[in-house]
Amino acid sequence: MSALAEAILFMRDFNPLVYSLFVFVFGACIGSFLNVVIYRVPVGRSVVFPGSHCACGEAVRWYDNIPVLSWLFLRGRARCCGCTISVRYPFVEAFTGLLFVAVWWRFDPLAATVFSLYVSGLVALSFIDFDTMEIPDRFTIGGFLIGVGLSMAVPSLHLTDPSGVYAADALLGFFTALQGAFIGSGLILWVALVAEVVLRKEAMGFGDVKLMGAIGAFCGWEGAVFSLFGGAILGTAFIIPLAVRKFFQGEDLLPKRGAARGRGEGEEDGAGEGEKEGWRIPFGPSLAGGSLVYLLWLQEPFDAYVHAFAQLLADF
Ligand SMILES: [Zn+2]
Repeated sequence: MSALAEAILFMRDFNPLVYSLFVFVFGACIGSFLNVVIYRVPVGRSVVFPGSHCACGEAVRWYDNIPVLSWLFLRGRARCCGCTISVRYPFVEAFTGLLFVAVWWRFDPLAATVFSLYVSGLVALSFIDFDTMEIPDRFTIGGFLIGVGLSMAVPSLHLTDPSGVYAADALLGFFTALQGAFIGSGLILWVALVAEVVLRKEAMGFGDVKLMGAIGAFCGWEGAVFSLFGGAILGTAFIIPLAVRKFFQGEDLLPKRGAARGRGEGEEDGAGEGEKEGWRIPFGPSLAGGSLVYLLWLQEPFDAYVHAFAQLLADF
């Protein structure tokens, strides 16, 4: 282990609170950048230039741009024109900060660096998918390529067996990532095909298939499997209250494609999506959420479970 990694681990054990706070602030700053990514990438604008500015055109001063704190201090209103600053900004900053704290406690410094990049990508693509119903290829295909590359550079990203033995060479990292990507995207492709036959409507976009490739490259096939089914459960938990509300408003739960058109729907919720595609829900945030739950909490028990299950099938 490098001297830098050792120094980081020393600081962590020396003062856990200061370590956590430092990591949180770092993550919140990255979250601040992710806010820029979320708003600019879908419209094709540069994420570095120009600097942050308000909706009124005024440049944001550095002291009004401090993650989380500035929003609280300004009580969600811009200093220049008094317009509302969405609560999403401090939320993304605080959420990214918390994710970083979890990542930097969970993994050794080298793996934590890689997974910091990974969770940052997940946060950005989730909000972009939520806003636009699309995930740009630079996150999905780009994530797959970066995941394969980093799996070769840092093979210890992939736990190779439940006893905790780490893979030691680049080739093994390469094949583990590739296997994860193919099993992940292959699995969701089958689920999508079956869902399309059963529901007789397009169940998910090809962006989700590509995203599963990126998740598999970073998390291995076990992580990809968990992200798909765990993500579906997670997504359902969020959808049920919405579905109940929709039901009592007398709307179809699963409108056929185009059925909502011309019925004046989408007025109550004010959502543009409601008008053009019935009731569409982005699946990207669910997959990303499933992947986070796996990576940060359930990797070891879930891997042990699926490996035991695979062994059972092999014995059978
Ligand atoms: Zn302004």
